[in-house]
Amino acid sequence: MLTSGPDPPDSITIGEFVSNEYYGRQPIARSRNPFTCGITGKTYTTAEAIERTELIARALSKIMGWEPNAELPFDKVIGIYSLNHIDYISVLLSIHRLSGIATPANAAYSAAELEHQLRTSRAKVLFTCAPVLEDALQAAKAVGISQDHVFILDIPGYDVPKGFLTIHDLVDMGRNLPELEKLNWSKGQGARQTAFLCYSSGTSGLPKAVMISHRNIIANMMQFRVYEQPARKKFGIETQVGFAVLPLSHAYGLHVVALSQTWRGDELIVMPKFDLTTYLKAIERFKIQCLTVVPPIIIRMLSSMDECQKYDLSSVRALYVGAAPTGKETVDELHKHWPHWHVCQGYGMTETATVTVSTSEDDIMEGSSGSILPGIRAKVIDFEGKEVTDYDVPGELWIQSPSTTLGYLNNEVATSEAFVWDDDGRWMKTGDEVIVTKSPNGNEHIKVVDRIKELIKVKGHQVAPAELEAHLLTHPFVDDCAVISVPHAQAGEAPKAFVVKSPSHIQGKSDEQAMKEILQYVADHKARYKWLTGGVEFIDVVPKSPSGKILRRLLRDKEKERRRAE
Ligand code: AMP
Repeated sequence: MLTSGPDPPDSITIGEFVSNEYYGRQPIARSRNPFTCGITGKTYTTAEAIERTELIARALSKIMGWEPNAELPFDKVIGIYSLNHIDYISVLLSIHRLSGIATPANAAYSAAELEHQLRTSRAKVLFTCAPVLEDALQAAKAVGISQDHVFILDIPGYDVPKGFLTIHDLVDMGRNLPELEKLNWSKGQGARQTAFLCYSSGTSGLPKAVMISHRNIIANMMQFRVYEQPARKKFGIETQVGFAVLPLSHAYGLHVVALSQTWRGDELIVMPKFDLTTYLKAIERFKIQCLTVVPPIIIRMLSSMDECQKYDLSSVRALYVGAAPTGKETVDELHKHWPHWHVCQGYGMTETATVTVSTSEDDIMEGSSGSILPGIRAKVIDFEGKEVTDYDVPGELWIQSPSTTLGYLNNEVATSEAFVWDDDGRWMKTGDEVIVTKSPNGNEHIKVVDRIKELIKVKGHQVAPAELEAHLLTHPFVDDCAVISVPHAQAGEAPKAFVVKSPSHIQGKSDEQAMKEILQYVADHKARYKWLTGGVEFIDVVPKSPSGKILRRLLRDKEKERRRAE
């Protein structure tokens, strides 16, 4: 499958692209305020957001001695470990203004998880916020980021910690500093140069830094607009009010929601994190028209209808669900309560930065993630390695797109396994099993039917089984283990561990006590969404292939059978 698409510019930064009408953004005079705080109502105009980016860049340049056009972007990496904030995007774009790289970290991470990201990305500066300050400082110290290179975003409801520069201090500092020299990138630099290091475990193994170029992001913004604009036209929408409640540290929140929508002149209501009542209140207060969600948010709404009915949600026109599958029953249930909502789905991954398949409001097919976006090639490869050319035959989805990322930082093995070349060029092997099917109006749609790769998605967040297995193996009770995904009513999926006990260490303890300790060991060291909410089961031996690869499918089948029998 191939669709023709836009030709993204390759010598500019994302910041130049989103702030300059020349490259096709919604005219600034006809744009809504891009960022409004969903709690305080504080808002920035487009001009203010652009100015803040510039001023933060000036301050960083002064503090760190970083020049706008100097090469070596990997020497200018900043980390951001924060709940969502109306300056989040300005922070990210400010480092691009200095030709550096931003690495956004999940605010749910533990100190050890953040340390891993800061160390492997070689971050030299950290932006953070009060609710996660303790872990931020612990990780910063461990990797040698001094406290005067830790800056604070002020989250409503939390006192700003003393002894640190805040985002507002940096902006004020920037006002008293000379203008920075203009960026002067060479042809192709935007395609070669990494803008973001976002962490993903890909098809196997531990979380790895995905190198996402400026052109990758620009391409995806253009592709999505070309695809979705006809529907906006049809429904008479020039700009709309959207919602940034998904973490801006994840590709979905960052590229698809924040950058893409504000480039199109939309307003984003920014919420630090999801809380149902605050969410519903904000929809009513700001008359939000487009919700971008992950399935657990829908499930939470549907299971709290009494609360939902207290608020006027009639402003909502469209709901985009992504990051994990959404079943027909869920969509039907939503329509029962809100029949006029257009429930659209999107499919994408960090490595394809980001959306590659989406439904548009005027082409929705139940159970389908939609059609491939303009400028993307897709093929389906069966389990013998042959290309599938018939409809409704399953195989792995391979993607080729100007948004397909540069690979994994310092990890050529993982890069060459996931990004492969053939006579038709370079492809990203998604690790997802799909079928191509025809919608009633004749369009080709993609349905995700299973996941071949190891990844577990909990509330839209990635959990890498290999990471949990490596951690469990450091516990004295664990001789061997394997972690798989099991269905979970609220979170969609949950990690479950199969553990081979170490009899010598476990001596004298009941299975129940041993399980409790193992669960606690994960809870003590890992982000909450990685906890073993799928449970722990003791087994005699972990099934493995002759080469030592865990045969997860056998464990998954065993689990399915057990659940069927219950
Ligand atoms: P991430 O890189 O964190 O965005 O995770 C990407 C993975 O999430 C994909 O490879 C899929 O396994 C899963 N995923 C994303 N969107 C969907 C969707 N609409 N339906 C099913 N799975 C999805």
